Amino acid sequence: MALKITFLGTCACDFSPRLKTDLRDKLDKDVRRSSSMLINDTLLLDCGTHTINSLDILKIPYEQITDLLITHLHDDHFDVENIKKLALNRHTPLRIWVREDATLPEIPNTQINKMTLFERYLISDNTYATGMMANHDESAFPQHFLIESEKKSIFYGCDGAWLLNKTYYHLHKRHLDVAVFDCTTGDYEGEWRIGEHNGIPMLRVMLPSLKSVEAITDKTKVYFSHLAPSLHKSHDETEKIAHTLGAFVAYDGLCIEA
Ligand SMILES: [Zn+2]
Ligand SMILES: [Zn+2]
Repeated sequence: MALKITFLGTCACDFSPRLKTDLRDKLDKDVRRSSSMLINDTLLLDCGTHTINSLDILKIPYEQITDLLITHLHDDHFDVENIKKLALNRHTPLRIWVREDATLPEIPNTQINKMTLFERYLISDNTYATGMMANHDESAFPQHFLIESEKKSIFYGCDGAWLLNKTYYHLHKRHLDVAVFDCTTGDYEGEWRIGEHNGIPMLRVMLPSLKSVEAITDKTKVYFSHLAPSLHKSHDETEKIAHTLGAFVAYDGLCIEA
């Protein structure tokens, strides 16, 4: 059975003021919301600033979301007020998965599950998640995810620059079906955020190397996400650049099958 993946938000944190005015109830490829992705309508990766707003626009009921996996605790990925709304009307507590050294505030009707890096956890009937080291602000307890379900595997690497050694080796020969990479910065040199985010020149180097170790293959659907609109050209222009790398650019509301 195919997996359904919905991008709820694909932005770094330079949000447009238009999200509070004419685009409050509308998704737009160039006016991105906070980074978040939903798998099979039940497993949510991050619940940040706009995740509830995106779910509302896409008419996805919150009650069916059983598990929330947290990549890290920056506001654009972890918003307590929005997580409260997710958990509010559930019959069973919302399960939250987070790195074991992170401390979370009390959130009613949730159950916290602490994750050790590189251990594989059964999330639901047939879905497993592994947290892997990420090169990002360590005070936010970052982790990338490997999600395995229905014989499919998905890499989710927002936020983080490059791949740290152990994570890189963990992905060897995975033949990922879908790989989502941080692409905060655009196609230029001299970018100072290289210690925490990817830019297009970095992905241009990384993707062929990841192919050489069979982490990804010609069949892998590679997506760039977590884009800062102020550091990129338009979505359509960026999509053309991504195509030359064999990749796609995610946008808010994009729904794909793995
Ligand atoms: Zn972020
Ligand atoms: Zn971050």
